[in-house]
Amino acid sequence: MINIILFGPPGSGKGTQSAKLLEKYKLSHLSTGDLLRDQLKRETALGLEAQKYMEQGLLVPDEVVIGMIESKLDEAGPETKGFIFDGFPRTVEQAKALDDLLARKGTTLMSLVALEVTQKELVKRILLRGETSGRADDRDEATVLNRVKEYDTKTAPVADHYKSQAKFHAVSGLGSIEDIFGRLCVVMDKLVVTAQ
Ligand code: AMP
Repeated sequence: MINIILFGPPGSGKGTQSAKLLEKYKLSHLSTGDLLRDQLKRETALGLEAQKYMEQGLLVPDEVVIGMIESKLDEAGPETKGFIFDGFPRTVEQAKALDDLLARKGTTLMSLVALEVTQKELVKRILLRGETSGRADDRDEATVLNRVKEYDTKTAPVADHYKSQAKFHAVSGLGSIEDIFGRLCVVMDKLVVTAQ
């Protein structure tokens, strides 16, 4: 299976680039942010619990997101070619759980591919996205800054977890959507060849 984490801080373009990669490489998408927003829209107990964290720009507790990913992986049929994980794992605890869940399915993570973007650019992009995304957590600058802080303290160490497994790749997340996609495809094409 081709299992890839598309990694990067909030606003680095993970959602946009995931959509393009899924189409090109025929992979399945697992975005914990999308799954949580869906739970919230349906006003489930999980969604309402998660909302308390999301609206402050804080990470939702590990056990909640790990449980969600576990059930999505269990639902995947044998025809699944692989997954793009978007916004997950966001803590080292989540990364360890993902490693275990994939091992249980008889597969493994191929690579973490990081989109690198400067902090100034991130905040600018998210506030701009907030004008149209309908996401409350994109509109308030203090919430956006909390999300970047959570990334720096809790999520950035996930890259080290996969560096120690020699599974880390990085590309620049600056420039046009097509330029960034081109850089990602260079990395992906090499990974796909290795998987065959
Ligand atoms: P995203 O759409 O990935 O930017 O996620 C939006 C918000 O959902 C985050 O700011 C967190 O509050 C929550 N969230 C999404 N994914 C995770 C995760 N893997 N771990 C903890 N919280 C998450």
